[in-house]
Amino acid sequence: MTTHRLLTGKVVIATHNKGKLVEMRELMAPYGIELVSAGELGLPEPDETGYMFSENAAIKAVAAAQASDLPALSDDSGLCVDALDGAPGLFSANWAGPGKDFKPAMARVLAEMAKRGAATPEQRRAHFVSALVIAWPDGHQELFEGRVHGQIVDAPRGSGGFGYNPIFQPEGHDQTFAEMSTTIKSGQADALSHRARAFALLAAACLRKPA
Ligand code: IMP
Repeated sequence: MTTHRLLTGKVVIATHNKGKLVEMRELMAPYGIELVSAGELGLPEPDETGYMFSENAAIKAVAAAQASDLPALSDDSGLCVDALDGAPGLFSANWAGPGKDFKPAMARVLAEMAKRGAATPEQRRAHFVSALVIAWPDGHQELFEGRVHGQIVDAPRGSGGFGYNPIFQPEGHDQTFAEMSTTIKSGQADALSHRARAFALLAAACLRKPA
């Protein structure tokens, strides 16, 4: 049986991605933990050299925990499109280029799908993955993963959130992630997004609400 460790005190959110930071702060809000971001601490962004989301999440969390001497929570995530053999996947952020512009990245997803003739709902299937890792300065680590399945829509819709939100419509919904409120996309009540689903597992294992 795995023995989980409770997360208490001050915690670093090991991301430089503003969109993720907003969602992670919201998810952590009920647990009475003091949060500080890697950006606020001036921590460098480590190279993501892993071959799996979980490896890259661990690289980021361990680097932040070592540099800050505090427990650190990281997210590594991405969009995997079936018709593109899982791309952009681990390279979801890279497709946006150094300017982190997701308009061309989304256009590339749509163009590559069109090239492969992916037109039917079945051929437009995709999923998001989130790997959340908490690393403590003494080396202890915990990993939690979540997924959400859905479809790539014909053209971007909506402006909320970040990244590939405007082209992803989760199963059972008629809005893209960018058309939904953050509370519906990543709130704890619905646990709809990949990140909210991974977080629900993390919270059950490592967090307690203050009395
Ligand atoms: P990384 O985990 O920092 O390497 O970057 C993951 C990339 O995946 C982000 O920059 C986004 O482009 C994309 N991504 C991850 N989660 C989401 C999401 O919830 N909505 C939209 N795009 C996402």
